[in-house]
Amino acid sequence: MDFGEPEHIGMLRESIRRMLERHAPREQMAKWDVEDRVPRALMDQIRDLGVCGMTVPEEYGGTGRDILATMVTVEELSRRSMVIGTLFLMNACYGSMNILASGSLEQKQRLLPKLANGELLFAYGLSEPDVGSDLASVTTRAERKGDKVIINGNKRWCSGAEIADYIYALVRTGDPDARYKNLSLVLIPPTAKGVTLTHIPALGARGLNTNDVSFDNVEISIDDVVGGEEGWNQGWTKLAGPALEVEKLEVAAMALGIAAQAVDDAWEYSQQRRQFGKRICSIQSIRHMLADAQTKLAATRLMLYRGCWLADNDLPCSVETSMAKMFAGETGLDIVLTCQKVMGAYGYAHGFDMERHVRDMLLMPIIGGSTAIQKNNIANRMGLPKA
Ligand SMILES: Cc1cc2nc3c(=O)[nH]c(=O)nc-3n(C[C@H](O)[C@H](O)[C@H](O)COP(=O)(O)OP(=O)(O)OC[C@H]3O[C@@H](n4cnc5c(N)ncnc54)[C@H](O)[C@@H]3O)c2cc1C
Repeated sequence: MDFGEPEHIGMLRESIRRMLERHAPREQMAKWDVEDRVPRALMDQIRDLGVCGMTVPEEYGGTGRDILATMVTVEELSRRSMVIGTLFLMNACYGSMNILASGSLEQKQRLLPKLANGELLFAYGLSEPDVGSDLASVTTRAERKGDKVIINGNKRWCSGAEIADYIYALVRTGDPDARYKNLSLVLIPPTAKGVTLTHIPALGARGLNTNDVSFDNVEISIDDVVGGEEGWNQGWTKLAGPALEVEKLEVAAMALGIAAQAVDDAWEYSQQRRQFGKRICSIQSIRHMLADAQTKLAATRLMLYRGCWLADNDLPCSVETSMAKMFAGETGLDIVLTCQKVMGAYGYAHGFDMERHVRDMLLMPIIGGSTAIQKNNIANRMGLPKA
């Protein structure tokens, strides 16, 4: 067992922190939060860090798969904002990891070099107005017409749709009663004729560009069915593949980043704030709250990095990634609420990042498979009988 952080990971953290100070300082992030946007141009700065190829093999222009480094990048970017973390995910994970795992050879050759170079962003179009956890019930339909595919239906909560190059959408390609067997994944440019986007404002994750997306006779080429012709009706197998395990780590990494920044902020604040003639960090209850938060943060980090290690070594990790995702979301919420208490009224007011950390963290137990869904997965995969 080796718990030491590799040197290249330490250097990566430093370069991300420098980039954020320069191109997304705290005051700027607070403004983007109010405006509910983060510019796509920030992706250029992320690309310049050299991190976009970390999920792409060298033969396609990447630097080779490094899940730990990828998740540390998500963690560090999410310290400033999970929205910035998501920008990177839209490239390195929603795009590269999915195309690498599920794309046809032609799609890999066409898309992976651009993804590795940070030029393309993918948005997830899985959820629908009536479909959340039960993704096998999607009703958005795709029909073959020669070498074209025609799409009709509605997606909901499609984050990043306004700035994405493709929506990676799960669509019904046959009889709905067959559930898992008649699903396909397709790549739809949000600029295609017949696509309408409607922005959805939300409590947190402001700037995530979350949208309702409707498809009205949208036409794409059969080449944009994920996996090509052979990918038709194979959507579920592709969705539930290795990329799904890593997706759970992605949310855990975002939660860890938000929580880590909240702890740092509260730790620092407790040393500045004076009440009753002394710094509040000298009050035992404040010290205990911060000690609790640091301990929970350390546990979250261990669970996430263990999941990364398993994924990097191609070992089975469905249980561990579910545990990491569930723990990071729930414990992360606990951590930010504790940190908010340490900061009193200043943890609640606009103008301080703490209230944004709380709003953003509230999303973590919901997305990427809710806490309850992860618990189901853990109990099922560990063989707990249902009757
Ligand atoms: C800001 C934001 C951004 C998002 N971005 C995207 C995106 O980019 N792309 C995308 O496709 N989706 C996105 N989503 C949707 C997200 O993935 C879903 O919210 C999530 O899958 C849960 O679905 P739901 O909210 O419809 O809840 P439901 O599935 O309706 O669940 C409601 C409640 O019931 C519980 N529940 C449901 N089924 C079970 C079960 N079998 N056992 C136990 N409990 C259960 C859930 O845990 C939850 O507490 C986003 C959502 C938000 C809020």
